[in-house]
Amino acid sequence: MAIAIVTGAARGIGAATAARFAREGHTVAMLDLDAEALAATAVEVGGLAIPTDVSDEGAVAAAVERTVAELGKPTILVNNAGYARDAEIGDMTTEEWDEVFGVHMRGTFFTTRLVQKYMVEAGWGRVVNISSISALGHAGRVNYSAAKAGIIGFTKALAAELGPAGVTANVVAPGFIVSAMTAKTARRLGRDFEEHQRIAAESIAVRRVGRPEDIANAVAFFAGEEAGFVTGQVMYVSGNVS
Ligand code: NAP
Repeated sequence: MAIAIVTGAARGIGAATAARFAREGHTVAMLDLDAEALAATAVEVGGLAIPTDVSDEGAVAAAVERTVAELGKPTILVNNAGYARDAEIGDMTTEEWDEVFGVHMRGTFFTTRLVQKYMVEAGWGRVVNISSISALGHAGRVNYSAAKAGIIGFTKALAAELGPAGVTANVVAPGFIVSAMTAKTARRLGRDFEEHQRIAAESIAVRRVGRPEDIANAVAFFAGEEAGFVTGQVMYVSGNVS
């Protein structure tokens, strides 16, 4: 069993992933911006809560240091923390652009740069990065779409670089998942959340929206021993053909 770090673990996909890892017997360090929600989830899941802004280089260094000191050297890393700051391109502020790149791209870079050395040292490691179907292009989200596409390029390069050391790197790209993030989008569109889900499900092949556990299942596959011959891949988990 391994030491795993999951970012954005206070709620949603990150919390489901942390819970799944804990059930599988891994020891989990859970990082998130929201200290209060994180503490509650960590108690429920049985992980170590480390309040951290993943876009802050120093905070990530402190979080990884604390993980090593209190749990041991991590060999599984899930870069899941994220949010959207949606706007049409003409209205998008530089701040909205930078914030989204901060959490998704800087965050993924900071954690991975520090954690990979423990994986290389162990001759075994699993990096799983959370992208989105928005990486394929989503109107009103050039910042988020670009950052999520960037995560795919980052992961493929990482997979090529660290494969010889026994480390795999893969991407899970979710479609519509019921979470605080999609609830916020519904509010922005002035829709009731249930109605928003019903409308979304109509354009999904399997005719339902996803749950955080649907994504945790895919992450668990990539993080598992049996996925050792799979690297640099993108798994779209959207109930759809893309
Ligand atoms: P969520 O329920 O909002 O959870 C995301 C968590 O990440 C939140 O607790 C959030 O804290 C935290 N976070 C945000 N910025 C952070 C930072 N700088 N440092 C540390 N933690 C931070 O969203 P989710 O739906 O589970 O999303 C998880 C991942 O899946 C994200 O990368 C998202 O882009 C991706 N995704 C989601 C969907 C979907 O339909 N839900 C689809 C495709 C991809 P705060 O709440 O305090 O901001």
